[in-house]
Order: sequence, then C-alpha cells, then structure tokens
Amino acid sequence: MLFSVRGGVKLSYRKELSSESPIVRMPTPKRVCIPLQQHVGSPAEPVVEVGQWVGKGQLIGRAGRGISANVHASTSGTVIAIEERMAPHPSGLTQPTVVIDADGQDRWADLVQPITADFPLPASPKELSDRVAAAGIVGLGGAAFPSAVKLDMRYKHSIDTLVINGAECEPYITCDDRLMREAANEIVDGVRIMAYAIAAEQVIIAIEANKPKAVKAMREAAKVDSSIRVVTVPTRFPMGSAQHLLLAVTGRETPADKRTAEVGAVVHNVATARAVSSAIRRGEPLVSRVVTVSGHGVREPANVEVPLGTSVEDLLAFCGGLHPVPTLLIGGGPMMGAPLPSVHAPVVKGSCGVLALTASEINEGPESPCIRCGKCVTACPAGLVPVEMAQLIKRGDLQGAKAIGSQDCIACGSCSFICPSHIPLAHYFSFANGKLNALDRDARRQDRIRALIQARNERAAREAEVKKAASAARKAAKAAAAAAVASVVVACGAPEATEAAVAATQQLEEST
Ligand code: SF4
Ligand code: SF4
Repeated sequence: MLFSVRGGVKLSYRKELSSESPIVRMPTPKRVCIPLQQHVGSPAEPVVEVGQWVGKGQLIGRAGRGISANVHASTSGTVIAIEERMAPHPSGLTQPTVVIDADGQDRWADLVQPITADFPLPASPKELSDRVAAAGIVGLGGAAFPSAVKLDMRYKHSIDTLVINGAECEPYITCDDRLMREAANEIVDGVRIMAYAIAAEQVIIAIEANKPKAVKAMREAAKVDSSIRVVTVPTRFPMGSAQHLLLAVTGRETPADKRTAEVGAVVHNVATARAVSSAIRRGEPLVSRVVTVSGHGVREPANVEVPLGTSVEDLLAFCGGLHPVPTLLIGGGPMMGAPLPSVHAPVVKGSCGVLALTASEINEGPESPCIRCGKCVTACPAGLVPVEMAQLIKRGDLQGAKAIGSQDCIACGSCSFICPSHIPLAHYFSFANGKLNALDRDARRQDRIRALIQARNERAAREAEVKKAASAARKAAKAAAAAAVASVVVACGAPEATEAAVAATQQLEEST
C-alpha cells in the first residue's frame, strides 16, 4: 500500500539520453585529486606523506572527530601533494586534498579479510557497521552522510524499517537505474547486510514507476529473501527525498527538525547498498562510483564507473568531450545539484551526475513580478508558502521568513521550477537559511561567551566571599588573642605592664 505525499512537480525527465547506456568503467586517469572531505561532518585527517607510494584502497585520510568518514586512494601511485585544491562546490572554495600520480598499475593495497559466508552472517551487527565505517562508505544518493552512523542509529533509536531508495527522481540521472539493472544481486546482498546490521523487521526497496526494467531486475534478485518488498512509487519530484519516500511507503511522517531514525526507519540508497556488499564480501573500500554524464552539451552521454578524485575534465573527455557551447555545468541533478566551479573539480563520493546543459535545457527566463498564482504553494513538498517567504526575505525580514518555516525547506527547487514568473525562489531560501544558520551560530557563540563570563563572575564573587570570611576570622582570632593577653596582664596588677598591654591590644586591633 502506498500513502499520498504532498506537493512535488512533474518534470521533463530526459533520462533517455543515458538510460540505455550500460555502465562503463573509466580507465584510471594519470592523476587523481582526492578531497579529505567528501562527506557530511568533519574532514578526514591525512595519514600519508608526500612522496609515499600508496596502493589502491589504502587509507589516505582517517575519519575526523564526531561524524566523519575515512578516505582511500582510488588507484595506486605516488602522493605528490597534500594541499588545498578546488572542491566541487559552486563557491569554488578549496579543501585539503591528497594528489596522487597514478603508476598505471591500479594495484590494490592489502585489504581486510572479506566475509563470504551466506546469511546468517558470522559477524555481529557492530562488526558490520565498523567494516562499513572503515570502508569510508557514505550515502551515494548525493547526501554523503556516513553510512555507518546511520547503521548505528539502532543503538539510539528503535528502528524497525529499512527503506532502500531507488527512486532516482532527478532528471537526466540514470546511474541508479543502471546499477539496479546490472548489479541487482549485489544490491540485494548489501540490503540484506544492512537489514541484519540494524535488525530491521521490514525492508522496502522503493523505485519510481518510470524504471520498469530496474523494478523487474530487483524483484528477481529479491526473491532470495522474503522479508524484502520491491515497490514502485509515483514518478514525481522530489520522491527521492528520504522523508517523502518514507512517507510514501510507510505512511510515517518525519518532523522537519528530526531524522527518519526518530520515526523508526533508516533510508539508504541503492548504490550505497552495493558499496556495502563490496566492502563486506570483497573487503573493498569505496574508491569509485557510477556517475551519469548527460545533457545535450555532452557528445556521448553515459553511465561511467569513475575512480574518485578523477577530474570532471577527464570524465568529460572520456565521454567524447563537450559540444561547442554548453551553457551550464552541473554537479548532480538539475534540481538539487549545483553549478560546478570548473572542469578541474574532482568527482567525489556524492557525485551522482555531471551535466552539461545547453540554453534550451535550462528553465530560466527573465524574472518578472509574482502573479499570485499559488503554484509554488501547491508544489512545495514541505507544505511551505514559498511566495510569502520570498517576499519576507526580499524585505530583509529573515526572522519573519524563519517564523513561517523557511528552515524546513529541503532545497528541492520545485517552487522555482514551477514559477511562471521565473522567480528563483529556492535561491532566496538557501541564501536566507545560510544567513539564519550563521546568525544562529553567532547567537550560540554569544550565549557560550555570556555563560563563560557569568561563570567567571560567579567564581570571582565566591572567591571574594571566601577571602572576606577568612579575613573576618583572622580579625576575630587576633582580637581574641589580644584580649586574652590584656586580661592576663591586668590580672598581674603592674600599672606599666597594664598600660603596655592596653597599648599592645590597641595596636593589634588597629593592625587587624
Ligand atoms: S525549495 Fe523549499 S520552498 Fe521550494 S518547493 Fe522545495 S521545499 Fe518548498
Ligand atoms: S509560483 Fe511564482 S508567480 Fe506564482 S505565486 Fe509563487 S512566486 Fe508568485
């Protein structure tokens, strides 16, 4: 049974450009530039040195503190630099990156012992999630959240459901479709490993209805395990968002400020499941991924298994290069992806697509005034009122936009896509949310500083009290001692001695 989800848009999918292109493995390029942060969380710390030879799959960056992920060499060769290099982000900002000159042998390093036994696996759930963490696996649907952290959520939340995301709702992108058709058995194996690791009672593989061949292949492969259901979901963007997919297949709504685990489910992508199978069954860390290269600006659209760290330039060259005038290069899908700053940016774990779009493929026109049609409201899957939020943001009223939910925006871009006035609504929200997050961070920092100052003042007040009490005690003790001396002398009766005692007592009292 499927549950209805709100909002969303019907898109022109244009998947036919690459959907019939089987996955091809790209030869290792001469050089790979592997960023140490390809995931949500803190960057990995480099564990190799310049000049060192590394094998394919060798750890080159150890996961940092908190949420993070390991990073491995995607081919064998020599580390020629560990330096700041361009990240695949529209800002063009740099990141610490390990640069490896390939030796052309693509020789694997020593890998961990694989687990080849059939189910039930001779390994504990914790051992499996540790292996997934060691392999540097992150969500390959684009979110790049460390997968082991999700598997370990069973220790924090009561999880009963594993949803496998095969929706692939972004236009042009077909890498998951091809993987499901070509590697269904591996995917199902990874799904079973993850289901065991989180002790899931039900497993649902959800695929958009526009991929009938993938549905058929996955249903066939899933016959090995009766707890797995393969269901089709409507073809409607953004069905691939974890919250919407979960709602569609289980009816469970995830509050905006919560994770799906808090409503008893974890959602993993099909490519992630395949990577988990490779890590457990062959001991291979995540060193490559399938990327869809598409758009009318590319000569030979394709699905390519690409070594991580390969430059977009090398990948495009492998796909026949570009037609003379593509207008826009995008990393990811056209709805939730981002413009690439340069062809020198590397392919990373979250790169599901590289698109070269021509002017006719871009839904952009001159922005005109809002005609109050309400289409953006109907399209918003998060139940927001984009038109109102945009107006508040335009007026600089970020807190007003926040008050009506701007921070619940999942940046799907449906509102911008549907707007007949070509108002870049989603851009307003990402701008405003960036500012609001910065303001929140600043407010938290100010709170921390205020708390530190208050603690320091309280400590100083306590120390002053202690000093005052000690001083009063000293005075009292001295006065008591002086009085005792005086009374002894007076009792002896010698007048000079009495005067001297009185003087000494006064002196003592004055000195205290
Ligand atoms: S980008 Fe945000 S506001 Fe616009 S439709 Fe998506 S969730 Fe709603
Ligand atoms: S879709 Fe565009 S024109 Fe229509 S109400 Fe929203 S912002 Fe205004």
